[in-house]
Amino acid sequence: MRYALLSDIHGNLEALDAVLAHAASRSDAVLVLGDVVGYGADPQACLERVAERAQAVVAGNHEHGVAGLLDLGWFNDRARLALLWTRGRLDADHLAWLSTRPLVAELDDATLVHASPAQPGEWDYLVSADDGYEVFGAFATRVCFVGHSHRAGVWSIGSSGRAHEPGAREVELEAGRRYLVNVGSVGQPRDGDPRAAYAVWDVDGRHVTIERVPYDLATTQRKILGSGLPRFLADRLTIGA
Ligand code: ZN
Repeated sequence: MRYALLSDIHGNLEALDAVLAHAASRSDAVLVLGDVVGYGADPQACLERVAERAQAVVAGNHEHGVAGLLDLGWFNDRARLALLWTRGRLDADHLAWLSTRPLVAELDDATLVHASPAQPGEWDYLVSADDGYEVFGAFATRVCFVGHSHRAGVWSIGSSGRAHEPGAREVELEAGRRYLVNVGSVGQPRDGDPRAAYAVWDVDGRHVTIERVPYDLATTQRKILGSGLPRFLADRLTIGA
């Protein structure tokens, strides 16, 4: 079994479609780690695509913000503007779907969660080595997949010690070790590489690959600028920041 793991799509339909096309020959099922909407100009199309294609979808802070489950005061000004814009583009059915995604899911000895397996509704960012190591006690599976920071990276713990590899691309899942994997962001990477990021987990091959996929950035930016969303949200996609 091979899973494609997508996180932080953020209403970027061109990036989502490029990733789904890339993943089609490399995976058997799609799992989504939250933040399907927010920032981008195509929340409705992204939500419908994900609802149709994904085997499991956990909620991100943007789902909770749009659906009214998280106070918009939690977000910075630009994110809040984008969330209010997004809410106006979705109907009651979409909002109900967003508000009923679980915070955590488990399958095939993996935990799926948007931000952190420790208090998933607090939306903590796992960035430093210690941030990751500290949450291994909060999941019981062999692997935990997260998103939220928009930066791919891997932490692991085993009898031979701890390891943290920010920006990892290839991960062999060694016997006797447990792993925390950030799959990066489909729709708004923040690691200096503007290409969409997602992960392929080969369960039997015991391997995770972080893939990078170019997409039609100019179209995405034109839609953002034409929709009345803040220009910053289009500009940042050029540099992946
Ligand atoms: Zn996000």
